[in-house]
Amino acid sequence: MKISKYLCVLLCTTSLFNMSCSKKSVAPQSKIGLLGTVCSINAYDDGSEKLYTAIFNRLEEIDDDFNVNKSQSEISLINSNAGIAPVKVSEDVYYVVKTALQFSGLTKGAFDPTIGPVVALWGINTDHARIPEKNEIEQALRFVDYTKVILDDKGQTVYLTEKGMSIDLGGIAKGYACDEVVKILKHNKVKRAVVDLGGNVYVWGTKKDGSRWKVGVRNPESNAADPALALSLYNSTVVTSGVYERYFIQDGIRFHHIINPEDGYPCQNDLLSLTVVCESSIIADALSTSLFLLGQDKGFEFVEKLSQTNEFDFVPDVIYISKEHEVVASSNLRNSLTAVNENYKKISFR
Ligand code: ADP
Ligand code: MG
Repeated sequence: MKISKYLCVLLCTTSLFNMSCSKKSVAPQSKIGLLGTVCSINAYDDGSEKLYTAIFNRLEEIDDDFNVNKSQSEISLINSNAGIAPVKVSEDVYYVVKTALQFSGLTKGAFDPTIGPVVALWGINTDHARIPEKNEIEQALRFVDYTKVILDDKGQTVYLTEKGMSIDLGGIAKGYACDEVVKILKHNKVKRAVVDLGGNVYVWGTKKDGSRWKVGVRNPESNAADPALALSLYNSTVVTSGVYERYFIQDGIRFHHIINPEDGYPCQNDLLSLTVVCESSIIADALSTSLFLLGQDKGFEFVEKLSQTNEFDFVPDVIYISKEHEVVASSNLRNSLTAVNENYKKISFR
């Protein structure tokens, strides 16, 4: 459970959470366990019981469809039917699988939702986390291939063509859930809100006085109470992938949860974390995992190409934090990004 990342954002928005509510509004709501994390919503003056109920019902629904620990979830059914039959799924699951595969194509397989068998082998963040044998990794990698996921738009089915394959949407699903919460906020004409799904943050609207929200970027080498950077934003999502979130250390080596599908090992590069800022949380989530896997140089090229080809109708901004504590960010963030920790003062923009 990713309470630590949650706390970082909470810290930076604490004053917001403590603000008093209007008569019709109730206290901000938080739930532990949904989407494998802590989900918190504060809709301030518009935060009625009815609104929070609608939001958490929707999050429960998404969790029921996506949770691999629920044997009847749609993702579990897709996996248990690998090599057997296509599975008819909800619009939610179909859309997220399709978007994940779009990123697989764009990253030439660096982002691969069929990474499931390798993720299961490492067991990171479970009680059976371990370094697998080389031959086990080779074996599991034989089932990792996003081109073997067959989608049928008409029937809305997903088919994994080989027995042993499994999909893992851990790199994208929370982003989707976050966007779905924002849809409910829009639908209910909520003026301002902070959504925090385990560190996958959306700041909706502006603060009451019209100023921007302050969102912390976690210091990858410290605890959540000590952010490295601060962003001032409105109507934006902030999503980070990093080496500090889920990992174990053995013989001085850190084994984290973002797996390179080329060799089946946690991705090794110069990065501690990678943050994406944009207006779509599903894109930010898939992109943060993808860019972490691509590394800094290829990553900047990738984002540039995305904007040139108009892949999305907005240009995502990125923040890289390297092991040397160097911060490199998109030039668009020049006026909104500041260091709040001495170690991360070296910020350059490109
Ligand atoms: P977090 O889950 O901390 O928000 P990410 O969004 O970066 O972090 O997602 C990491 C998760 O993505 C892993 O826990 C795993 O479920 C999944 N994953 C790991 N490697 C890959 C990969 N190469 N492609 C797609 N998903 C991956
Ligand atoms: Mg992600």
